[in-house]
Amino acid sequence: MKLPATYNNTILDKIFQKFPILGKILSTLFGALELPFLEFFRRIDTRFHIESMEFLNRRILKGRWGGRVIPLNINLYPETCFSPTEEIIEIIKRSNITGISYCYCRNIQRSTSTPNCDHPLYTCIHVGFGKSLYEIPMKSENLKKVSKDEVIQLLEECDERGLVHQLIYFPNPQFYYVICNCCPCCCVLLSKFLKQGSPQMIKSEFIAITDDSLCSKCGNCIEWCYFNAREFHKDSLMLNIEKCFGCGLCISKCPNKAIKLKRKSKYILQ
Ligand code: SF4
Ligand code: SF4
Ligand code: SF4
Repeated sequence: MKLPATYNNTILDKIFQKFPILGKILSTLFGALELPFLEFFRRIDTRFHIESMEFLNRRILKGRWGGRVIPLNINLYPETCFSPTEEIIEIIKRSNITGISYCYCRNIQRSTSTPNCDHPLYTCIHVGFGKSLYEIPMKSENLKKVSKDEVIQLLEECDERGLVHQLIYFPNPQFYYVICNCCPCCCVLLSKFLKQGSPQMIKSEFIAITDDSLCSKCGNCIEWCYFNAREFHKDSLMLNIEKCFGCGLCISKCPNKAIKLKRKSKYILQ
């Protein structure tokens, strides 16, 4: 996967580009250690009432760890070409997925207070590990064996529920280890972005364009856009291109099939 055009290429990233195996190893290692890492900082923050994770996100992990939004490849304009690394289903087909594990964010939220939502717990699709997933402590205990068809079914269910699909990456957005299905209420990345503007989330390469002739102005898409990219202005539906993450959720929620994803570069210069 190419780095986003807006991504700040450092010497380190150039090294990873030249020797991708290094990035893959680091990504796999980080993926294996992610749960204890998140839990360590959560406990520190709870114990001392500080925001160490937020500090880490903004100052140290920015551009190194986070989520890159990826839409489910439906409702494209025929001329919108997805590259294989932008197609979520293609990524699933090429990967060695053997299991899905539970969602850390929703699990922690539910174990510490009244549940925020009723979204499923088993939604984390580990693309980078294959069979070795069963050997990773903490992941193996909470693993469900699934077929690729079941994974695709899960993605469609998550889409219907309004969950945002993200490729979680480390040590830069080229290298991802898990496909997450995130809710705006519990997700350590999405909820922090929406509440505090944490810089961990990266937009997809697409934006959602509406065909006005099909739009009945029901307002569903506005209600479902977590990023506030849509609004009515003088009775017209407007899209704020800068705010659109290309998640594709408004597409699933439009009763008239009036919205489609188009490649962003055709509309704005990055
Ligand atoms: S990033 Fe999203 S899917 Fe992954 S653990 Fe957090 S909320 Fe769950
Ligand atoms: S308009 Fe909102 S819901 Fe639609 S793709 Fe953009 S960010 Fe997602
Ligand atoms: S959901 Fe579809 S029909 Fe409703 S306002 Fe949005 S684009 Fe128009």
